[in-house]
Amino acid sequence: MTEIHHGRFVCFEELKQAIAIEQVLERYGLRERLRRSGDHLSGACPLHRGHNPTQFRVSLSKNCWICFGDCHCGGSILDLVARMEGIPIHEAGLRLQDWFNLLPRAGQGIGQGQGLTLSSIREKTVRCPPRPNRPLAFTLAPLEPAHPYLKARGLLPETIATFGLGWCPHGSLQGWIAIPIHDAQGRLVAYAGRWPGQPLAGQPKYRLPRGFGKSFELFNQHRAELAPKAAPLVVTEGFFGCLHVWQSGYPRVVALMGSVLSRAQEQRILELAGVGQEVLLFLDGDAAGSKGAAEAATRLNRSVIVQIVPLAEGQQPDDLPAMELRRRLDQARLR
Ligand SMILES: [Zn+2]
Repeated sequence: MTEIHHGRFVCFEELKQAIAIEQVLERYGLRERLRRSGDHLSGACPLHRGHNPTQFRVSLSKNCWICFGDCHCGGSILDLVARMEGIPIHEAGLRLQDWFNLLPRAGQGIGQGQGLTLSSIREKTVRCPPRPNRPLAFTLAPLEPAHPYLKARGLLPETIATFGLGWCPHGSLQGWIAIPIHDAQGRLVAYAGRWPGQPLAGQPKYRLPRGFGKSFELFNQHRAELAPKAAPLVVTEGFFGCLHVWQSGYPRVVALMGSVLSRAQEQRILELAGVGQEVLLFLDGDAAGSKGAAEAATRLNRSVIVQIVPLAEGQQPDDLPAMELRRRLDQARLR
């Protein structure tokens, strides 16, 4: 049991009692998209990217959710996190424990009293399996690759063309820079939007489609797979860090699209890098980036050689000039 779960105990019942589903929805930024009516919240399902505004239902008193649409399933906060992150139930429990700073009580947890058993993990996982992103049935082409914002961010025409970036004059991302995201097979699964400049008050810098499971994908994986394997695999947090690392001559680079390494991303990084090979973690120089890099290093270290590339406080990889960026990566390899 401890071997399978890396020795960390988690008690499902305690988590379900300690954490309100509303808190979990808030953490994902989903709470504001749901309408409250008495004890219930309802809205479009964030898991299958539904548009029907009544298919996803939450019971606050029962602390559970259900989707009457494509998902045809539901469950507790654990099932919700497992589906959102694309990870097994037990991992979801650990994630919730970390997010909400909960420690299992001494002497409790797996194998004791109300703790879970392996068969109950399997049961729950089978009941509501993680769902990968579906390929898009449309493209936003034509995009405008010559937009001044892309030049201002230091991107060369070759980079812009390779990644298919451009300003979007129409559709759901009208006025935004569109960044195509592909799955491991190279199928277009989403567009991220980046506002070209300082966002207006109350507007986010980035926009991802509702229900898109970013934790299922590694940005640029399908291109990184084709790059020569002699170079180490570089992992960045954001799109622009990834673009600049690629541009500096490190084509084996992927972005997590966040500072937290999901279980699905962990497996893909290991497959992409190869057992015993080198992985350079180049996350942002802030609290989230440092924490994310440390956690990712602990997990990846079991199978690959991990180096954390340091950055000054407040710095991102794309803030560095290409020569300096390359120097930092070269140096991290030699240590
Ligand atoms: Zn659904």
